[in-house]
Amino acid sequence: MIQKLKGTYDVYGDISKKHDYVKKLFQAVCESYNYSYIETPLIERSELYHRGVGETTDIVTKETYDFVDRGNRKNTIRPEATAGVARAIIEDKLYNILPLKLWYIGSMFRYERPQKGRYRELRQMGIESYGSNDPIMDAEVISLGVNFLKELGLRDVKVVLNSIGSMQTREKYKKALINHFKSDIDNFCDDCKNRLDKNPLRILDCKIDCNNKLVKNAPSILDYLNEEEKDHFDKVKKYLDSLDIDYEVDDTLVRGLDYYTNTVFEYVTKTNEFGSIGGGGRYNDLLKSLDGPDIPAIGFAFGLDRIISEIESNEIKLNLNDELDCYILTISENENGYALNLAQKLRMCGYKIDLDLSNKNMKSKFKEADRYKAKQIIIIGEEEASSNELTIRDNLTKEERKVAIDDIIDYFDVNL
Ligand code: AMP
Repeated sequence: MIQKLKGTYDVYGDISKKHDYVKKLFQAVCESYNYSYIETPLIERSELYHRGVGETTDIVTKETYDFVDRGNRKNTIRPEATAGVARAIIEDKLYNILPLKLWYIGSMFRYERPQKGRYRELRQMGIESYGSNDPIMDAEVISLGVNFLKELGLRDVKVVLNSIGSMQTREKYKKALINHFKSDIDNFCDDCKNRLDKNPLRILDCKIDCNNKLVKNAPSILDYLNEEEKDHFDKVKKYLDSLDIDYEVDDTLVRGLDYYTNTVFEYVTKTNEFGSIGGGGRYNDLLKSLDGPDIPAIGFAFGLDRIISEIESNEIKLNLNDELDCYILTISENENGYALNLAQKLRMCGYKIDLDLSNKNMKSKFKEADRYKAKQIIIIGEEEASSNELTIRDNLTKEERKVAIDDIIDYFDVNL
């Protein structure tokens, strides 16, 4: 038997209803902030991620699904969406009309070690906001995520916030970190040994060495910010305060992607069972680094799979709206044609209808109606079909009554 790949899963039944609910809610919240939808290809040139996400990031060094196509070109199945959206913005000159507020949803692929909350096919929903370097935009972007989580019913969530300054600031800070760690680097994990020269900021969020004393008393990036960067960060905090957003500054938050500048943030639940449920930041230099214009930007991505896990572990009841308005069943095969036409008519009026064609006994047919959570059941026998007077059973009260076919819509208007 051929089995699914490690780190992937099939979406159907109850889980697909939950996915659908979360996606629709995210879309509604994005639209309420005036974001419009963008979809970019699942495959891009590998170079996009090397230059965009960064050569030394875990994603690019260890996790991308790369392949050479039949034309001998190096391609990568997207590990994240920001670089692809940036490529589209440059290629189609979408930056001609700013601001540009875009949202997306889709699968990303990373060759990670699969475990609970960590998949190789991960689904992300996110936003990309181009054209403003105003700290108000940082606060607005962060607030969109907070509002979405609140509407979902995930209340025990906080925003972890930091500023990692500009490239220049980070270069100075990197030197300070190298000095700080270098004498004791032999006591760190192999990844951190490699990170020391290439990307020492990542030592700060290493899962293995997080309790090392040197990590705990490392110099703080916040002491290296210049006046403008400090002012930006202070204003972001002030706006978040004014929006009553629960945040906590963590100067070790660096995020795993190279393109970030200034504000970075993550959404974490208080139990933090599966890792962060979302994260993002500013990437003012991203377009430039891909040969595009100099336009500031900020965005974030939520992990849909992790959000679903959080919903399940917090036993949050979603209003899945998965009931059927009406299940139509027939007493004999002779009435199936009549039922088909009635179903068609009711669906055209916007009702969610299914009809039974199973030829099973009546008891099983009623059981099916329960399985579909039907609110009403229409029962059609020979007499009903010839008189156009239908028997309707309210599936909650089990009350039955006769309704003329022409009055069904009125009946539904009142009873559904
Ligand atoms: P990133 O694109 O790495 O900044 O991640 C943004 C969000 O995507 C994280 O906060 C997670 O919720 C989610 N995420 C990242 N990697 C994975 C993964 N391997 N499996 C499931 N969710 C993930």
